[in-house]
Parts: sequence; structure tokens; C-alpha cells
Amino acid sequence: MTDNLPHVRFAPSPTGELHLGGARTALFNWLFARHHGGQFHVRIEDTDKLRSKPEFTDQILESLTWLGLDWDGPLLHQSHRSGQYKQALQALLKTGHAYRCFCSKDKLELDRKQAAKGHEFMYSGTCRDLSDAQIKIRLNQGQTFTLRLRIPEGETVYDDRIYGKVKVNNREIDDFIIARSDGSPVYNLVVVIDDHTMGISHVIRGDDHISNTPKQILIYQALGYDPPIFAHLPMILGPDKKRLSKRHNAPGIQEFRNAGYPPAALVNYLAMLGWNPDTEQEIFTPEELVAAFRLSQVQKKGAVYDEKKLNWVSSKHLLAMTDDDILAGIRSIDPDWQTERPDGYNRLVIEQMKPRVRSLQGLMEDSTFFYQVPEEYDAKTSRKRWPDSEVNNLVRNYYDHLLVQVEWTAENIEWLLRETATEAIVPASKLIHPVRLALTGSGAGPSLFTLMEILGQEACLQRLKLALEKLP
Ligand code: GLU
Repeated sequence: MTDNLPHVRFAPSPTGELHLGGARTALFNWLFARHHGGQFHVRIEDTDKLRSKPEFTDQILESLTWLGLDWDGPLLHQSHRSGQYKQALQALLKTGHAYRCFCSKDKLELDRKQAAKGHEFMYSGTCRDLSDAQIKIRLNQGQTFTLRLRIPEGETVYDDRIYGKVKVNNREIDDFIIARSDGSPVYNLVVVIDDHTMGISHVIRGDDHISNTPKQILIYQALGYDPPIFAHLPMILGPDKKRLSKRHNAPGIQEFRNAGYPPAALVNYLAMLGWNPDTEQEIFTPEELVAAFRLSQVQKKGAVYDEKKLNWVSSKHLLAMTDDDILAGIRSIDPDWQTERPDGYNRLVIEQMKPRVRSLQGLMEDSTFFYQVPEEYDAKTSRKRWPDSEVNNLVRNYYDHLLVQVEWTAENIEWLLRETATEAIVPASKLIHPVRLALTGSGAGPSLFTLMEILGQEACLQRLKLALEKLP
């Protein structure tokens, strides 16, 4: 880093699709970079050849793009960088910060088994001080070896931007392996080399990595690099207050997308998972988040994923969207949605439905009565609102009034309904509910008279007639 601005990165392993936790990590990095005018990089950690799949990389990038988390510069793939890792390993061997360990798997396994119960196994240091001659003999015998980092005495201390001061006695860290016997480097090593090469100033990541950080700092020191600033984000918890995992069935980002959550709503909600701004404001556009976000306001305490809250945030975002943007969002999920109707009609439907739904999928599902004659009538509402022929007579009177050629406006439709009710000496609600049932098949929906104006005279008459035939 040469510009003194923060350089951060999101470093997903492409072993699965992007989930809430990963998306939240990406978001906090992105917000931090954008707030300070720094750079947000993406690095694909694809060294696990068995589990990494290019299609997951594509999916993760697609999800980031959909969320609006744009990255700077080219993507970095760890799998393309083995040369650099090898060089660093050789340098560490040369300076004596790393050494060859010839201990066999079986021996290590035995040591592990013999380690005192309740204590974490620590490498005993058998190969730590082998002489050059001893090493030579083993190499000549063709013995395989791993590379271990020589941990110095002392303490490793760092100031976590979220967790505060973290101090570890180096005695608690054994000479851990940095390259396997096939020469491949381990995660802790490649992360350090990559973060250094990329000029990363702040490593912001999930707190599941907190135990790796002292080890990584020791690698930085062995390589003679300055460590970056670290910030470990709090866990995301399920409703049972346990770490959010597959068990909780929390959807992946693609699923939220397919369900039609506006990306800005999901971003807004994700920001709340751990970030506590000192304001009452809860609904933020992405631009407002960039302006307001402070890493110092991220809490240590785990953040509970709450689908209800997400739905609330999403409904607020939908309400603030233009009808055109909602239509475009729907068409991005289903290009064929109601294309047989003019978009003018669809926009009227959207305007009526957007205060009543929490996702675009919900809007598509709940608005079918604008397009189709109800196939059935909700049983509970029928029993309550249309119990007998008295209602039938009342609705028939209204139907007769509606046959008259009046200008088909919500105002006229309402006036005729109130007239009908007054003639029968009943409150208007006696008629409003059964008419809604006849038109929508249910007991809820947008304002009845606006709905009728949008549906049009012909469709309303047809549906009322059908209900008069089918209901008591
Ligand atoms: N690839 C790691 C992961 O997906 C992230 C490593 C890091 O952020 O340092 O958990």
C-alpha cells in the first residue's frame, strides 16, 4: 500500500455458494473501503483443489455483483500463485525461520495420542535442531518432510479493531506446519503472502479466523513484513443463539435473489448484523450506509439472524422503490411475468401491492387476482362474510347497479355501493367484504374501490356473477 488509504479484501473459498456470513464479511470490507475512499479487492482462495469449483467462484461473484459490492482491480486466484509461495518458503528455510520436519505421520499420531488429555497436542520439536549432516542423511534416504515455522520465545500481541488487545504467549503455539510433504503451502502461509503482496492494510474477516491471526503475525515477522491491522467480525447466530450454519437452513444469497428481495434491502439488513450506528435510523440506502459506516461501531457480541426483521427491512425498501424499478426487478426474476398485459396495467398493480409485500416473489404471488378469476373462495371468509342468501341478494342489488353505464371510477363505484347498502338499511361493510371475496377469493387486499377501478367493469361484473352462482 502506498497511498495511505485502506486496502481491504474479501477472500472467499469457492467451496460453496455465498452465504449470509460471507456476504456480511464482504459488505463490511466494501463499506469500510468505500467510506474511506480506499480499495476493495476480491481474492479467490482456491488452493483446496478437491473442494474448489469454478462454478462456485462464478456464483460468488454473481452474488457480490447482485448485491452491488463492486471490487477494484483484477481478481486474484491463489491457484495461480504457487511460484510466489514456493519462493517465500525457500526464503524462510534459508533464514532459519522454517525447518524441515521428517517426523512420519505415524509418529506424530502416536505423539498426539500420548498428549495429556485435555491439552491440545503440540509438536514436540523433534526435528527443530537437526544438524546439517542429519538433514543431509535423511534427504539422501529420500525421506519426505514438511516445513515447520520456528516459533520464537515471547508473546504475540495485536490490537484487534473489534476485539481489542489480543495477547498470546508463544509457548501456546507449536512449530506449526507451513508446507505439507508434497510441498504445498498451508492456508496461514498463503494468506500472509497474498495480503502482503496485495498491500492489504486491514484484514476484516469472520471471528472464526481469530485463532489463526497470531500464527499469521508470526509468519509476517519471519518474512520481515509489517502485519496489517486486524478486525474480526462477530459471529452470526441462528434464532437458537448458536452459530448460524446449514442446520438453520438460512438461505444462500442466490435464494434471496430468486425470492425477489431487493439487493439494497438485503445489504441494509446485513449491515445491521453486527454494526450498531448511534442513530435511530434503520432503513439505509447503500449510499447512506457508505457514509455512516464505522468499523469502530461494530460490536463483539454475536448478531442474531432474524428473518422477520429482514422482511420488515425489505418491505420498507420495496415501498421506497419506483413502480418501474419494481417491474424491472420482477422481470429480472421472470422475464415473462404478465407480459400479455400492458405495463401500464402492471404498474397500477405494483402500486397497489407494494405496501403489502416483503419481496418481489411475494408481490408476484399475491397479485394473481389482478390477472385471474379466483378459482375458489377462502372458506373462513366465506363463512363469515357470505353466510346466506341475504348477502347474495345484497350483492345482486349492487351488481344490478353496476350494470348501469357509469363512468368506471373508484369514486362512482364506491358511491353505488354505499347507495345499495343504504337502500337495504345495512352498514356498507356488509357489502364491502363479500364483494372483495367475490373479486379476489380472499378477505384481504388493497382498497376495494381502487381494485375495482383497475380490474375494470367487465371483469368485476363477471366475477360478481360467478360468486352469485357459486356462493349461498
Ligand atoms: N478463505 C477464508 C474463508 O473463506 C478467508 C480467509 C481470510 O479472510 O483470511 O474463510
